Amino acid sequence: MTRTTAPFKPLKKDEASIYLCGATVQAPPHIGHVRSGVNFDILRRWLTKSGYDVTFIRNVTDIDDKILHKAVHEKMPWWAVAMKYERAFADAYAALNVMPPTYEPRATGHVTQMIELMQKLIERGAAYAPGNGDVYLEVRKLTSYLTLSRQKLDDLQPAADADETYKKDPRDFALWKAAKPGDPSWPTPWGAGRPGWHLECSAMAHTYLGEAFDIHGGGLDLVFPHHENEIAQSEAAGYGFAQRWLHNAWVTQSGEKMSKSLGNTLQVHEILKSFRGIELRWYLGGAHYRSMLEYSPEALQEAATNFRRIENFLNRATAVLGAVPTAIVGDAFTVAMNDDLAVPAALATISENLRLGNQAITDNDNAAIARNAKEIRGALEILGCDPFDAAFASTGGSDLSAALDGTIKLALAERAAARERKDFAASDAIRDGLAALGITIEDTAQGPRWSIN
Ligand SMILES: [Zn+2]
Repeated sequence: MTRTTAPFKPLKKDEASIYLCGATVQAPPHIGHVRSGVNFDILRRWLTKSGYDVTFIRNVTDIDDKILHKAVHEKMPWWAVAMKYERAFADAYAALNVMPPTYEPRATGHVTQMIELMQKLIERGAAYAPGNGDVYLEVRKLTSYLTLSRQKLDDLQPAADADETYKKDPRDFALWKAAKPGDPSWPTPWGAGRPGWHLECSAMAHTYLGEAFDIHGGGLDLVFPHHENEIAQSEAAGYGFAQRWLHNAWVTQSGEKMSKSLGNTLQVHEILKSFRGIELRWYLGGAHYRSMLEYSPEALQEAATNFRRIENFLNRATAVLGAVPTAIVGDAFTVAMNDDLAVPAALATISENLRLGNQAITDNDNAAIARNAKEIRGALEILGCDPFDAAFASTGGSDLSAALDGTIKLALAERAAARERKDFAASDAIRDGLAALGITIEDTAQGPRWSIN
């Protein structure tokens, strides 16, 4: 709202309440859809690590024009479409180690609360039901309308969400839309219909977080009209609503927001065929949340390669130290994260730990190996990319790497047996065969270890 950063002062001591606008479940998620989930998961992890008891709400918009159109197209009931894609999103979030929200309300489960909110708005003279089954919010009466997006009401185009005949002002927006024949609807005192998208979020935020809460998040494209209208509804009802706003930028292609047609090949489940969830998360979470992330296959590959270097160091450190390093959050990492989640600066601290850690391995300096490994693990935990996190053990990617690890160890055992019987031609053939697959074998005091180049 202020376009500046300021110290985080929660409404309730030691607590942080966050509302994030979730997906409209009408298609499988592409990487542009899940970036917001990753960015805000990092925020949540950092606040939790900083000692706050975090309540995190991310809703599901399970009724929408797009879902109804998809239902016609896929010859399925609308609720089946919504459930199918809600599950696709849940799978994608799980593969990316995005923690499940504290509560994940569906819009269709909160129609009662939406009706209560509309009743309140009508009583307060902020909204009106002109008799056609719609309910509108009267935007001219609101003094703070458009302060988030910094627009002038007189410059605004009419809200294209309903027949203008019944509106007092063409810029008034629909809280509720009268039922159309064949469409799903819910009964209200003003006639049967279905909720407008903006009303859903105001009602759900109020239900789970109360009249005022700490942080409202969402993608940059939601600033107007969605968030502006959420503010309008909640403030007109007399609620304090969000104390601060965080908006994540987009994943772009050629500088443009990733479109659905371009995004098809970049669906999360497609990318997970080539990359592990932990690698995709490392890529998506690596940019500052307010910076655009320009997608290219090369950039994703490079991020994955960089992550594997870090992972290799942690595996080597574990072998040398004889135990998985415990996670410790370093001072430089803390400074970076406290500055509006400056992830790129936080990543620079990991690179420095990696450089020092690898040097320590060369120098056989176990204390320095441990120190750097612990700080790297502490940082990766906050970024949701800790390779020792059990969450990654249950995803497809990790099953694959476990199988790969087993297969390579089998090959290494064959190689050891060949050496034992002095069949060096056979042992070299195994080593060369693995090398041809991009797998490097290094003989160490702890036995052979492998890495992928
Ligand atoms: Zn929303």
